Amino acid sequence: MNQDQILAEKCYQGEALGDELVVDVHTHIGPWPAFPVADSGSAQSLLRQMDLLGIDYALVSPHVAVGPDWQEGNHQDYEAHQQYPQRLLVYFTPNPRYRWEEIAVEIERWRNAGVRVEFKLHPGLHGYACTDAKCYPIYEYANEHNLPILSHVWNSEKIDGEHPMRALAQRYPNVAFIHAHADSDWETMATLTEAATGHENTYLDICGSVMYYGLLAELVRRIGAEHVLFGTDTPFVDGRAQVGRILTSRLSDEQERLIMGLNAEVFDLPQR
Ligand SMILES: [Zn+2]
Repeated sequence: MNQDQILAEKCYQGEALGDELVVDVHTHIGPWPAFPVADSGSAQSLLRQMDLLGIDYALVSPHVAVGPDWQEGNHQDYEAHQQYPQRLLVYFTPNPRYRWEEIAVEIERWRNAGVRVEFKLHPGLHGYACTDAKCYPIYEYANEHNLPILSHVWNSEKIDGEHPMRALAQRYPNVAFIHAHADSDWETMATLTEAATGHENTYLDICGSVMYYGLLAELVRRIGAEHVLFGTDTPFVDGRAQVGRILTSRLSDEQERLIMGLNAEVFDLPQR
């Protein structure tokens, strides 16, 4: 066996990565209004997929949180975390169109309950640009508390001639800025690898429903495996396809370990 392809070999044998750290940084729970999702996107269903694939931890953002009711969504997330405290970790999902004072109250409630508020933003569904003034208190807070922020997109005009993610990463060095769905197509990959290159605190999450052949290897070649995060977008997308394409991508075991779990140490992971 090629000693640098041990993970690929496990995949070919149909073995889950039981002894490796595997962190899914992009999942959801709950039903979705536009089409059915398996088991109504229950936390139990998410756990079943995690066990099947050898995923230790999943970062979760309920659909309702990125949609019509961020407070209800965060409540659901907290309940899922209470149910599986060692497996399901919470993304606190604010809707910045609400006043910061209201968001801050919710954050405090969570902190008092002992939960680290790692942020998820969905500018697309909540209808704002990442450079809107109302977003800055969130960035300030995350910077002060060393928290990562996963955003569906870092969307706006350029800031000082730079991609917004790049400009924000410069301004807030203690925040890990994560861009979701970074390899959905070749053009997106090219733009985002350029935006993320050269900043320690920028990461690209590679979950998505379209997986172009060879795109992942090119993304890693451009930006380095240290900046790439594994995510599945469960329950929209079948996580088996995502795991399979990473493990059989002919990256080295070391690169795959970084992508599958080691880079996710920017999150507050429980002890294994
Ligand atoms: Zn998603």
